[in-house]
Amino acid sequence: MLLALCVYPLMPPTGNDPIALAAAAALSALIVLTTIVVPWGKLPRFTEVVPPFAYFVVIALLREADGQSQSAYGVLAMLPLLWLALYGTRRDLAVAMVGVGAVFLAPLVLVGAPAYPASEWTRALLWVCVASIVGYTVQGLVRELRARVDETSRREADLLTSQRETRRLVENMAAVTDATREISRTTDAEIARHVICSAACTITGGRFATLLEPDGQDGLVMTANHGLQGSPPIRIGIGAESSGAAVAFLSGKSHFVDDARADVSVSQRMTKSTRAVSVHFEPVLRNEQTIGVLVVGWGHVISALERQATSAVRMLAAETAMMIERADLLARLEASARTDDLTGLLNRRAWEEQLPREMARARRAAHPLCVALLDLDFFKTYNDERGHQAGDRLLEQSAAAWGDELRATNILARYGGEEFTVALPGCTLVDAKAIVERLRSAMPAGQTVSAGIACWNGRESAEELVGRADVALYEAKRTGRDRLVTAGTGPGPPDLRSVAL
Ligand code: GH3
Ligand code: MG
Ligand code: MG
Repeated sequence: MLLALCVYPLMPPTGNDPIALAAAAALSALIVLTTIVVPWGKLPRFTEVVPPFAYFVVIALLREADGQSQSAYGVLAMLPLLWLALYGTRRDLAVAMVGVGAVFLAPLVLVGAPAYPASEWTRALLWVCVASIVGYTVQGLVRELRARVDETSRREADLLTSQRETRRLVENMAAVTDATREISRTTDAEIARHVICSAACTITGGRFATLLEPDGQDGLVMTANHGLQGSPPIRIGIGAESSGAAVAFLSGKSHFVDDARADVSVSQRMTKSTRAVSVHFEPVLRNEQTIGVLVVGWGHVISALERQATSAVRMLAAETAMMIERADLLARLEASARTDDLTGLLNRRAWEEQLPREMARARRAAHPLCVALLDLDFFKTYNDERGHQAGDRLLEQSAAAWGDELRATNILARYGGEEFTVALPGCTLVDAKAIVERLRSAMPAGQTVSAGIACWNGRESAEELVGRADVALYEAKRTGRDRLVTAGTGPGPPDLRSVAL
């Protein structure tokens, strides 16, 4: 508008209409003022077409002031048209077409000939046609360009997101691999459980992670945790209370809670004690059977990106299942390496491990410790007469009968063949002899058994102690069998400071 007004004095006037010029200048000023003052952002979108439309009126007035059909100002009508084609909507452009039409047609109708001769109609029609061709073509091109730019930036954003996701996935995989490596280095299931919980926290950014496992009484108990040190141990009654862990445990599917504070499917007791907000429950599956639940909790409502890390929790849960299986297998192997197959008692290896421990405990507690060796009499004859299988059965029955006679603190082991050992912690020699006599009389099938007993003197080694009992057993055999012989105290006085004999 300013350009139009500025060039006005430079143009050779073919006709002069100061009123139209003044009106154009006044309207221009009004447009500038309203453009600045009016809060366009708060008004409906269509109001924005008012200034460009008013501008067409300014051009029409300038044309009128500058020699009507002879005026060169008509070309200025292209400016708002291009502006609206570039930045406006189709409707805005339609308004611009009406504006162009108004600039050229309104004077024809309102003023008429001779200022606007009949040939002016052709000019007006051509202007409207050219304006619409230029306007819609420019707008079409701009739209296409914008769509391409949008598509490119959308692809770029997608690429960035997927790059970020990939990086995160790789990091998570690396963290899981680290945890796996650490777990495989230990044979201690406790340590492995803690490694899993701490890895779950590291990967997910969770505030805590805990492993819940069945307690054999319709409950899930916390067997390891990271981030919950010092808080009371968690126990969830399956079916007895609403709990996300129970949902995951029973369904075998992962369960996610966006905000545990307002979710009825979660144990509010657990939510309060852990101060968790978002919580993920991942079942630990072994052969499609749930054997535990890995729980990760955050102190806030997590984002979609943070939630992606829960896929790593699934990997950790699979690792947990393998770790538990490995630990069970190892425990079974260890137990079987220490158990006698026939009688189910401890074998000689386990006995040799246990006896020094019992001796150390006796020293610490300053209580007596007696050891007895029992050997079935004429067992070879028993085997020869009734067969080896009957002999086996007798060994089994003897072990079972003796087991019933002993307390949990007593240690009964099969030393080898038809020979058994028993350690009696806390028993004086008198008590121990009574117990061994009870064992001898509990012998099934009328079988007799000889025994040698020795009480630890506080100085000797486990080997020496058993050696003394063996000497006593030999003595029992030598003097007629079916009897109990007490060993001598061994060389030197007993160490009465540590053992109360
Ligand atoms: P003694 O009164 O001197 O102890 O005589 P014994 O026959 O019991 O002793 P000996 O050492 O001569 O024989 C032990 C027998 O125990 C020989 C062996 O066949 C038998 N025996 C060892 N282990 C087993 C076993 O696991 N099952 C069976 N059925 N017999 C066994
Ligand atoms: Mg024997
Ligand atoms: Mg023997």
